[in-house]
Amino acid sequence: MQIEEVKGVGPKLGRLFNKLAIYTVYDLIQYYPKNYLDYSKITDIKNIKPGPVNLRVRFKSVKQSYSYRKTSITNAVAIDDTGLVKITWFNQPYRQKTIQTDEWYFLSGKFELKYRQFQIINPIIEQVSSDPLSTGGIVPIYGLTEGLKSYKIRRIVKSVLEISQFPEILPKLILEQQQLTSLKNAYYQIHFPSSQKALDLARERLAHDELLKVVLASQMNKAESSNLKSYNIQFRLADVQHFIQKLPFKLTDQQRLVSWQIIQDIQSNNPMNRLIEGDVGTGKTVIAALVALMVVKNDYQVAVMAPTEILAQQHYKTLLNFFKEVDPGLKIDILTGSTLAKDRQRILNQLANNNLKIVVGTHSLISLEVKFKKLALVVIDEQHRFGVKQRNILKKTNRAMPHLLSLSATPIPRTLALTFFGELSISRLTEKPFKETIIKTEILAKTQYERSREPIIKRLLEGQQLYVVCPAINEDSNLNSVKLIHQRTKELYPNFKVGMLHGKMKSKDKEKVLELFINHKINILVSTTVIEVGVDIANATMIIIYDAENFGLAQLYQLRGRVGRHQKDGLCYLIHNDDQIASNRLKQFLSAKNGMELAELDFKLRGPGTILGLAQHGRSDLRLVDFSDRHFINMVRESSNLFLSNPKNMLQYKQLLHEVNRYRQIIKLD
Ligand code: ADP
Ligand code: MG
Repeated sequence: MQIEEVKGVGPKLGRLFNKLAIYTVYDLIQYYPKNYLDYSKITDIKNIKPGPVNLRVRFKSVKQSYSYRKTSITNAVAIDDTGLVKITWFNQPYRQKTIQTDEWYFLSGKFELKYRQFQIINPIIEQVSSDPLSTGGIVPIYGLTEGLKSYKIRRIVKSVLEISQFPEILPKLILEQQQLTSLKNAYYQIHFPSSQKALDLARERLAHDELLKVVLASQMNKAESSNLKSYNIQFRLADVQHFIQKLPFKLTDQQRLVSWQIIQDIQSNNPMNRLIEGDVGTGKTVIAALVALMVVKNDYQVAVMAPTEILAQQHYKTLLNFFKEVDPGLKIDILTGSTLAKDRQRILNQLANNNLKIVVGTHSLISLEVKFKKLALVVIDEQHRFGVKQRNILKKTNRAMPHLLSLSATPIPRTLALTFFGELSISRLTEKPFKETIIKTEILAKTQYERSREPIIKRLLEGQQLYVVCPAINEDSNLNSVKLIHQRTKELYPNFKVGMLHGKMKSKDKEKVLELFINHKINILVSTTVIEVGVDIANATMIIIYDAENFGLAQLYQLRGRVGRHQKDGLCYLIHNDDQIASNRLKQFLSAKNGMELAELDFKLRGPGTILGLAQHGRSDLRLVDFSDRHFINMVRESSNLFLSNPKNMLQYKQLLHEVNRYRQIIKLD
């Protein structure tokens, strides 16, 4: 049932619910309180102390008046059998009419010394009944949107709970063995707990089901994929040694270790699924190159996929560089949206007959025309930038399963969850090959922009270069646009050459600008976030980011990572629009140590997000699960085994399996 069809909701209130991503009755029921107020303990007035109190009272008097500023003031005296207390409501003149002196009320608020007397100001009040919503017990607090207050949500949740059926989705055996409360009870108690204990049981039941679905999905996938075959890549010591010898640098111990882990994985018929997680500049690419070489030497093919054309170009060049001496005959090519038709045809043919060994590209690599003869390794750079669907399609283009190697600086929560289910292995690079460079970072309100000019000009005169990043391309939004800032930058730095780069430009023009920048023909590059991912220009040591509050912290981190590489200290200015919240959030950015920490911070600041990428309306599927609770996790694993050990369950518990199947698709070999 749609939310607006609920009695007492209607289209207007319905739209407010939609703002909270609540579209159906089911969404509403799953809109768990974000917190609770415990109004279950009633104080006698004679024992009242300053601070939050819950009383059960009658009213001796209620008087309505107006201050000289026309503020409505309602003064009341509330009593119980032990004493009396003064109450004041501001701007709630209706109180005088609605409060009846012969009724009992629950009253919750703060007892404090204010306006020269001890009293309770603007308390919540509710008539005592068998079934209070907002007082007299443990009261749910919901995440709100403007115009939709907690008490309204409470009222509607309650009416929906009362008319809904919640057929049990779990086998009795599991319910009994794990001593879980019924689904109906759990949904009721998570919204309106009758006690703390009841609330704990409700959460346990619902968390159990949330996690059980994902664990079942992952176990069923595993059972299925144990039949999936990949290519066994033989280790070839001489080739590795040769490659390492020809490198212009020495691999770090961590790079060696990670390479070794990957080589172990691919010496097997089971498809590898591994992520290298390492901050910007930790040297992930060279590891991918080494593994690619190993695959090629086994006469198989490698696809390297990057999220942008610029980055694909850069990888293409990097790989050419790595291999030009190691194996001059090795064929590498690049395939992107802008590859000319005739080149494209040639590349497709060569891929189809295994004449081309390594292809670098953007997601045009996943188009269905691209057929590989023997694709044994897929490398996905900046993995977090790809949608789940894009990643999966690439795997489907090939009959046997290629090994999958992902690279990322900022793993998304989803990635962390997949590791947990054993779908993904992680290798971590925690140290950089160079000594850590310092990136001096300053947060400036846009009115303080001038402060950045002198230090920047000083460095520009030394021949260093500057990125200027804006969130928009055109002037049609109220964000700073590349076009506007390009113009302004030219005026601010009249003695320097300023270029412009954004995603809507033809890729030939993009390349040209980038080339000018690389060759120092341009001093300042004004761009959108196209430079976010991986672009590596040694001499660019400064970055200005406009409207910094519009970016996620992890994204800012990536952007800033464009400078301060190659042992040159960097300089970064985050320009924001003078808004207190923005500057506070940006300050947290300054104190974080690495990209991982920021990903977690984003997670906290921007809400729980989604652990499994396809969750609906951006709401997480694993809201109640506490991954640190070992005991609980083991219990769910046990439930999963119980379920799978009885084949009849597969036929009987259709609702559960329906949801499990959805997850199976989502987490499949990702
Ligand atoms: P990221 O992990 O951000 O993708 P890259 O792979 O682009 O980092 O590496 C950053 C830079 O460090 C590159 O110029 C690369 O050649 C260089 N590099 C990688 N490993 C080492 C090493 N062991 N010693 C010195 N330089 C290295
Ligand atoms: Mg990289």
